[in-house]
Amino acid sequence: MTYHFKCTLCGEEYDPHTTRYVCPKHGDDGILDTIYDYKRIAAATSPQKISNSRDYSIWRYADLLPLNDAAESAPPLAVGWTPLYHAKTLGADLGLSHLYLKDDGRNPTASFKDRASAVVVAKARELGVELITTASTGNAGAALAGLAAAAQMPTIIFVPETAPQAKIAQLLIFGSRVMLVKGNYDQAFDLCLAASKEFGWYCRNTAYNPYTVEGKKTASFEICEQLALTPFPSPATREWGARGEGWRAPDRIFVSVGDGNIISGLWKGLRDLAALGWIDKMPKLMGIQAEGSAACYNTWKAGTEKITPVNAVTVADSISADIPRDGVRAVRAVRETGGAYLTVTDDEILAAIPVLARRAAVFSEPAGAAAYAGLVKAVKQGLVKSDETIVCMITGNGLKDVKSAMQVAGEGIHIEPTLEALRKAMKT
Ligand SMILES: *Cc1c(COP(=O)(O)O)cnc(C)c1O
Repeated sequence: MTYHFKCTLCGEEYDPHTTRYVCPKHGDDGILDTIYDYKRIAAATSPQKISNSRDYSIWRYADLLPLNDAAESAPPLAVGWTPLYHAKTLGADLGLSHLYLKDDGRNPTASFKDRASAVVVAKARELGVELITTASTGNAGAALAGLAAAAQMPTIIFVPETAPQAKIAQLLIFGSRVMLVKGNYDQAFDLCLAASKEFGWYCRNTAYNPYTVEGKKTASFEICEQLALTPFPSPATREWGARGEGWRAPDRIFVSVGDGNIISGLWKGLRDLAALGWIDKMPKLMGIQAEGSAACYNTWKAGTEKITPVNAVTVADSISADIPRDGVRAVRAVRETGGAYLTVTDDEILAAIPVLARRAAVFSEPAGAAAYAGLVKAVKQGLVKSDETIVCMITGNGLKDVKSAMQVAGEGIHIEPTLEALRKAMKT
């Protein structure tokens, strides 16, 4: 695969053989886009060819990924091709006939972050690096730890010491060396960056490493491919959708935003597909932020590209970021697709968890439920039409943060092991 990098701030182009992370002119803010030769991709593959693949993972899109030989370098762990559920009951509750949930909690380490870590680990193998490091609120680290275990590569991972227990357990069990930082995610990020420069470790830090967004874009490929398969994209029922030759883009995608790398990845995937002519419209991207961690929302609202740091506080730890590391692209993603940013309160986020579980049987961690809370708000504000095709990204599994779920789950009933006690309990 031939490609080059382009600075998102000045447009300067770089050769990936000589530039590893960011635009040298802009330091750590000079996030790089990966630019492809779409004519070559179109000559090598097609939507039909991909949809005939029996590789039900992100590697079915290898021809659209920045790797030399994915078959060789991909870590052997099944990432991606997560279910896209037509959530009819939940949709009907909101008056929407085409609401879909993309359950990315179904990835091997139970979050969307596996998509990024899979591509970064594959690239690390191609580069022949010895050790990978990252900072994380928890999920990016868990994903790196899992994918690196699959590739038998050592990792050192920096997380805030307050990260949910389940996420720390994942890091440790996969064998990472875990640095529990006495500080927040942003401090962990800066320490990890300094360490990678000091010790020469390969750094996966979100957005700083240009391949995270390239892994994350695979979710858009899946959404557009799966929407073209009716009625449900399982191997047994696969058929072409109405248009026959291409894939189908939804009208809107709701996704929660912390660093802004997922929304930037979704946008990149859609731009790849539009450039190839495989979709015929650009979905509106709807970025949902926690009220207490809303730097992208603020920038979007102000109509600028200037990111002002906040003091992030939210129950949704995965989207808690003082400085969104991919903020400029995340604001552009919403602005250029004609979408919107919305904020939701912690109460709204927590309330969304049991609704998703009870009405659509998807158990989400707070950051995933935030996207749905944002959809509820958008419907209330009249921002969406009832016949639009809407995809809501559920980015992480609820078992990641049982403590938050228990705040809104209700209570079980303690009883003696007798029918008499059960009869009594059932009356209350
Ligand atoms: C990382 C994460 C997000 C937000 O992604 P950003 O790239 O930081 O905007 C949302 N939900 C979950 C579960 C995550 O782990």
